[in-house]
Amino acid sequence: MKVTEHIKQAKSTLFSIELLPPLKGQNINSIFETMDQLMEFSPAFVDVTYHREEYVFRNAGNGLLEKHVVRKRPGTVGICAALSNRYKIDTVPHIICGGFSRQDTEDALIDLNFVGVDNVLVLRGDPIKSEGRFVPDPDGHAYAVDLVSQVLAMNEGKYLDPDLKDTTQTGFCIGVAGYPEKHFEAPNRQSDIRNLKAKIDAGAEYIVTQMFYDNKAYFRFVEECRAAGINVPIIPGLKPLASKAQLNVIPHHFHINLPDELVQLVDRAASDEEVRRIGIDWCIRQSKELMAAGVPVLHYYTMGKAKSTQAIARAVF
Ligand code: FAD
Repeated sequence: MKVTEHIKQAKSTLFSIELLPPLKGQNINSIFETMDQLMEFSPAFVDVTYHREEYVFRNAGNGLLEKHVVRKRPGTVGICAALSNRYKIDTVPHIICGGFSRQDTEDALIDLNFVGVDNVLVLRGDPIKSEGRFVPDPDGHAYAVDLVSQVLAMNEGKYLDPDLKDTTQTGFCIGVAGYPEKHFEAPNRQSDIRNLKAKIDAGAEYIVTQMFYDNKAYFRFVEECRAAGINVPIIPGLKPLASKAQLNVIPHHFHINLPDELVQLVDRAASDEEVRRIGIDWCIRQSKELMAAGVPVLHYYTMGKAKSTQAIARAVF
């Protein structure tokens, strides 16, 4: 079932989660363990992230370094198929522009359609770590809006090969990302929201936000989106803090701010276990306020930390 149908049918705020595929070489049990801890809260859908290739340099033994291309977390499509089979749950695989030609994308969408996936979260993807800026595949998409258009074309039965006859129409419900504190590359908030509106105009039906720790950022973002004519559901994404190191890692990696009250609480904590408790309490406060404001879904970035999400869901749902 589509995410938008879940939202339409819901009588109260829904619960959903995001999972990361395990590192290559690991099995799928960690995913099942996370699900087993969270199924009691009846997630409406489960997102599974997509991780593109990275470059690593290995010592070639002769004083030289060899460049290798590795994908550390493959398995997005397989995990979606396994989850819907085992838990009878709707999955939302993430699909990205980076590293994909249009043909690769078309074939990936065919796989997703064949395994019964009804939803995709469409993203551009970040630059490869060793590259300063995002470089699309020579025959790929430069922005998420172009990938939205390709998915929509397949929903209308239009494939890349114009000679194909009697094609099947896919029925993907398309979600896209939004940034309450602005995407880090955007020159200003207004242009970022114009680009977000272009994704909705191209066919996206809902937005999931980047994580934020101050609900005021979300409420302001929703107001600005509505003023810009974006009328689709805007799902807040939340991630409980779990370690002191995240005070620096999260702003660095996700380009967001942490409120000073939270920073001071974490600074005073004696251990990461205490930070985890602070993170859970903070996230419960955020969740309750967002729920009271009538958000359609509370979406949690579990990042392999099911216990924190479980404690939050227990207090909120
Ligand atoms: P876009 O919408 O393409 O925007 C990227 C930048 O370009 C923005 O600054 C925007 O304002 C600007 N822009 C957009 N269109 C135009 C245009 N036509 N002309 C000029 N500028 C334009 N990454 C992964 O690799 N895998 C994942 O699974 C993943 N999941 C995510 C889930 C969520 C909920 C979020 C919020 C992010 C996720 N990301 C993931 C990270 C995401 O790929 C990065 O944030 C990326 O840098 C931007 O992706 P986007 O889809 O928002 O890009």
